[in-house]
Amino acid sequence: MRTLFLNPPSFSRFDSAGARFAATRKTHSLWYPAWLGYVATLIPKSKLIDCPASNIDLRELLKRVGKYKLIVIYTSTPSFANDVSVAESIKKINPKAKIIFVGPHVSTLPEETLKASKAIDAVARKEFDYTILEIAQKKGWSKIKGLSYRQVKKIIHNPDRPLLTNLDQLPFVSKIYKRDLPISNYHLPFCLHPYIAIYAGRGCPNLCTFCLWPQTFTGRAYRKRSVANVIKEVVWIRKNLPEVKEIFFDDDTFTINKQWVEQFCKAIKPLRVIWSVNARADLPYQLLKKMKDSGCRVLVVGYESGDDRILKNIKKGVATAQMKKFTQKAKKASLMIHGTFVLGLPGETKKTIEKTFQFACGLDCDMIQVSIATAFPGTELYRFVQKKGYLEKAPLVDEAGYQTPAISYPNLSAEEIKKAVEKFHLKYYFRPSYIFKTAKRAFSSPSEAKRIAISSWEFGRYLLSR
Ligand code: SF4
Repeated sequence: MRTLFLNPPSFSRFDSAGARFAATRKTHSLWYPAWLGYVATLIPKSKLIDCPASNIDLRELLKRVGKYKLIVIYTSTPSFANDVSVAESIKKINPKAKIIFVGPHVSTLPEETLKASKAIDAVARKEFDYTILEIAQKKGWSKIKGLSYRQVKKIIHNPDRPLLTNLDQLPFVSKIYKRDLPISNYHLPFCLHPYIAIYAGRGCPNLCTFCLWPQTFTGRAYRKRSVANVIKEVVWIRKNLPEVKEIFFDDDTFTINKQWVEQFCKAIKPLRVIWSVNARADLPYQLLKKMKDSGCRVLVVGYESGDDRILKNIKKGVATAQMKKFTQKAKKASLMIHGTFVLGLPGETKKTIEKTFQFACGLDCDMIQVSIATAFPGTELYRFVQKKGYLEKAPLVDEAGYQTPAISYPNLSAEEIKKAVEKFHLKYYFRPSYIFKTAKRAFSSPSEAKRIAISSWEFGRYLLSR
């Protein structure tokens, strides 16, 4: 069946189909639509169109959709209304096409999704690789696990599909990137450009209450590809995408299985590629050193808060003291850190925001990202703020796609959280010591200089536009 995988057009440079928090970023950031890419590997003659990355607007898209019989659209909570209207426009042009919605939002709310518009024929819940493959193979919908669909006036929810355990059975997503995507249009502020993002594993066993994917999509069961399989893909990338300067392994937490990481380091070292990962602040120095020696460049670390009570409230499972020690060890191993923080989590006050700022300055990460706490449907955080009456009826993004606050506490308003996030970034980046350190790094290599220049320019442009 001719199948189109679609990251639909929405806000300009909206980072959605591969991002955990869909939004337009302050610095140019675009993740690969990896989930759509993986299933595209399974279906011969499929096509993946990433509208934000390819600058394709609705008019242009509608010229291209007529020939497809199956159209799979990745959606998110902030872009859902927009994506429904894209589906309705497609259906007018191509009424016979079956339109399937996928992603964490619709996995949590399949009934509401199907009720939102008749243009949506079905929802493939959670990991949808083989659910979509079976639709493309024309299997009867009543027999397809993980599928919710409309049958006359009734909505049917088939039983859940078990999570994929043998990830080695999926072909290499990088082949689809090369075939269909404009590699040089993807950016991450902490990666050398051009970069590529693939998964070496799926799922995360940790319990962070705000974190979207493990609670709604990838699950708590941690599944890993074999080292040999990942290395084979790295070799393929090196040979077929020689322009790629860095490989980002975008597992929820790459470093859960330390023994696997050690074996991986041993296997990747001779290939002399630059790679980076999402890591948890609980790694020993010996492992950090092995990672660095085998080409690891950056660790993306979720610190979230500098207040231990908040870390406990969100079930982070790592305290500030451990985070500090970890950061010292990572620096000793000469690894760079992109630290991520979230303001507005349960227990937040003006005092804890200042405490988190001081904590971040003390850690002195090479780059930071500060987000507004967002309660996505299906998460423990959502249930908590809803029950307490802290959830505001506000969209999660503004008219340009930038994150907006939708949680307000009795002593801290949504607006105060938003302002605190902006101030945090400014105060952090305009510290003389930070400017000096970054300038020094820019002189260390042309690739670093290019990355820093692009990020600084983008951030400056964002500040001027507000
Ligand atoms: S460790 Fe990271 S990926 Fe895992 S649940 Fe917590 S925030 Fe999410």
